[in-house]
Amino acid sequence: MRVRPAPRLQDGSRHHPVRARDHTSARSADWLRAAGATRVAELHGPLRGTSGGQHQAGTLRMGTDPATSVVDPFGRVWGHDNVRVADGSVHVTNGGVNPVLTIFATAMRTIDALVHARA
Ligand SMILES: Cc1cc2nc3c(=O)[nH]c(=O)nc-3n(C[C@H](O)[C@H](O)[C@H](O)COP(=O)(O)OP(=O)(O)OC[C@H]3O[C@@H](n4cnc5c(N)ncnc54)[C@H](O)[C@@H]3O)c2cc1C
Repeated sequence: MRVRPAPRLQDGSRHHPVRARDHTSARSADWLRAAGATRVAELHGPLRGTSGGQHQAGTLRMGTDPATSVVDPFGRVWGHDNVRVADGSVHVTNGGVNPVLTIFATAMRTIDALVHARA
């Protein structure tokens, strides 16, 4: 019988999501304080469990190398100058927290580049 390779999926709070969440939280707090915020709540400590079913990500990886990604850093599909992607698919992961603000920020950058034809 031929054995087919298959991915093994795990649930739970692993090391990488916690580090990504802590980094994102600290940088976001820095930005908020720099913008004048006086009360900032940072997220630290163990995760309360994973939340993945409604936060799909990936399938059209964003990157700088067409050999390993589908779109360039401005959402343009490699090899198709007039096709851009501006949604959650360009994120390989969600960085440990809910994704919409990151999707929104990345989409804004993609649209800005399109409108101003910078890239
Ligand atoms: C119950 C629930 C709660 C959530 N809560 C949060 C939250 O609190 N915070 C957070 O950050 N994120 C939350 N999310 C996740 C967030 O909603 C998604 O990550 C985000 O909407 C993904 O954006 P997107 O643009 O990639 O895809 P979508 O928002 O799904 O947009 C895809 C669009 O494409 C359209 N479409 C699909 N197929 C076609 C087709 N063939 N032709 C034309 N149009 C098509 C769809 O109608 C849809 O409008 C939640 C998701 C769910 C389901």
